[in-house]
Amino acid sequence: MRKRILAGNWKMYKTAEEAKSFMEEVLSKVPVSENVEVVICPPSLYLSELAQLTKDSSVGIGAQTMHDVKEGAFTGEISSAMLSNSGVNYVILGHSERRQYFNESDESVNRKVHAAFEYDLTPIVCVGESLEERENGKTGDKVAGQVKKAFEGISQDLAPKAVIAYEPIWAIGTGKTATAEDANEVCGAIRTTIGDLYDEKIAGEIRIQYGGSVKPDNIEELLSMQHIDGALVGGASLEPKSFLKLVEACA
Ligand code: PGA
Repeated sequence: MRKRILAGNWKMYKTAEEAKSFMEEVLSKVPVSENVEVVICPPSLYLSELAQLTKDSSVGIGAQTMHDVKEGAFTGEISSAMLSNSGVNYVILGHSERRQYFNESDESVNRKVHAAFEYDLTPIVCVGESLEERENGKTGDKVAGQVKKAFEGISQDLAPKAVIAYEPIWAIGTGKTATAEDANEVCGAIRTTIGDLYDEKIAGEIRIQYGGSVKPDNIEELLSMQHIDGALVGGASLEPKSFLKLVEACA
């Protein structure tokens, strides 16, 4: 069985004090369970400190983005080598906000997936359609295209270690969740795409999260679906209480 993965994406929220006190509270209360991997993705400024704080715990730390080369003259950027060296274990790649506001493309996401694996980071690869694409019946093609490009050149050995997050853009931060059935259908299609790229075994192993207005009161239904192995959560990951409820639902 696939181990669930619950990841909190804090986006550009929290002061340093708030980040630390969230983590201390969560670390003191988080249930340790074989069934779920728990990840917090804070702003990059707090990665090192939170990685230190969580070092001996069941909570992993992830970056929200990174550059695709090891080092160089790229003012303001951080690399996978730096993340890895600072105790970070995961990185979100191709989040729709990065694609929309920071020109992230399927090509750059692919380069970043390679860079993540090079330094032993687990990539959380985000894919998803806009409302217009959904209304025009383009969801399947859009998401399959993003998945194919993201995994280009990734070996059979590495592919199942990646995590895919299906996040319909129209459901992010809007309070609109895809129905559990609709989300499951797209996650199932993603699994089929992975099966076509690799094989059935890898398609059965890879973990697919749903993201987009996941809350304590809708996560159970999403998790009851065959192809949904956890969630990537923005708003509801910001308060320890609701984040812990989400972890408990996965545990
Ligand atoms: P949301 O964000 O849970 O606030 O909708 C999800 C995400 O952007 O990953």
